[in-house]
This record gives sequence, structure tokens and C-alpha cells, in this order.
Amino acid sequence: MRLRTLEIALEGLEGFGRPDSRTEQYSTPAILAARLLHHAHLLGDIEGKEVCDLGCGTGVLACGVVLLGAARVVGVDMDPDALAVAKRNAARLDADIRLVQGDVRDRSLIEGLGSFDTVIMNPPFGAQDPHADRPFVDTALALAPVIYGIFNAGSIPFLGAYTAGRAEIDLTMGGIFPLRRTFPFHRRDVVEIEVEILRIRRR
Ligand code: SAH
Repeated sequence: MRLRTLEIALEGLEGFGRPDSRTEQYSTPAILAARLLHHAHLLGDIEGKEVCDLGCGTGVLACGVVLLGAARVVGVDMDPDALAVAKRNAARLDADIRLVQGDVRDRSLIEGLGSFDTVIMNPPFGAQDPHADRPFVDTALALAPVIYGIFNAGSIPFLGAYTAGRAEIDLTMGGIFPLRRTFPFHRRDVVEIEVEILRIRRR
């Protein structure tokens, strides 16, 4: 599937109904989601693979993974409202996605999910809760040997130190996350946040 075709398919999906600022519910824009997934696909981490989308929200990444030919896709989120949207998005694309309600901070979640080839995630950037992305990194490393994540630009030193001895960052791509006005405390209609798409490989 061409990058642009994937982007168009993801653009048509439903967003968060009532986004929650505390858990940083921002859907990944189609252009950025397609870019991450297309790259992961080219590196052989999607097609025929078992893939988990951690903090799947409305399921944009999980849906893209199905479109790119993954063998099994599971989406996990703690918010039942987001999962209801994800369910509708999956149905719209006729995508077979197992949706699981769970908190990534809960260690028993890992046993329940089993293991995967690849984790993809757009975790909270930690704007509301400074270390909200840490349990995502820990759980992702417990679930799969390869992780793709979207992080704030400048996160590499922190992530490198946090995962030292456990994993290494072997690919970095810059990107822009156009954040539309979502919450009352947002002052401008759109702000562009610089992000990094990272591939993290477990040692
Ligand atoms: N991955 C989606 C959503 C990103 S927003 C996308 O790319 O569009 C971050 C998501 O993480 C939200 O849906 C939020 O509900 C979820 N989330 C935040 N903290 C979580 C936690 N501790 N456990 C599970 N999900 C969490």
C-alpha cells in the first residue's frame, strides 16, 4: 500500500469524542501515523507480524497496522470511550483488532496480553504528568523486541538513559505533530509540536 493511500484511509477515521487532557488524548494526525507505519512496514516489522498498539486511543495506528498486513493486532487503552471509537473505526475499515481495556501501569496486563513482534505507540508526552511515558516504555519492552513510538523532540537523551542496558534506539525520524485546539487551555488554533519517531530495540 502506498504511503498516500494509507494516509487517506486513516484521515477518514473518527477522532476522540470528549478528549481528556489529563491522559493527553490527541489522535496522531494521519500524515504522521502513516509515516511511522510505512517506515515500520519497510523495515519488516508489520506485515505478517503480531503487533500491539499501546494507548491505542481511537485506534488510528492499530487500523493502519491491519491495512499493512499484520497477522494479529491488539489495541490497549484505559479509556472505554476511546475504545468505543476504536471499535467503530475498526469496523469502518473491516479491520480485525482485539481491543483490550487496561492500564499500562498494571503489571498483570502484560501476562494477559502475551508477547508480540512489534509494539507501536503514541504515548502521553508527559505534559500533564511528567513521567507518563515511562510505564509505556517499560510495558512495551516487556511485550515486544521492537518498539516504535512518537516522543517529544529532544527525548532521546532521557530515553537512552532510562533504557540503558535494556534497549537501544536504532532509528530516529523527525516529524511535526500539528496539534489542533482541543482543550480550553489551548490558546492557538494549531500549534506545531516537534516530535521524534523512534525505533527502540530490546537487547
Ligand atoms: N495512540 C492513539 C492515542 C494517543 S493519545 C493515537 O495515536 O491516536 C494517548 C492515549 O493513551 C489515550 O487514548 C489515553 O487514554 C491513553 N493512556 C494514557 N495513559 C494510559 C495508561 N496508563 N494506560 C493505558 N492507556 C493510557
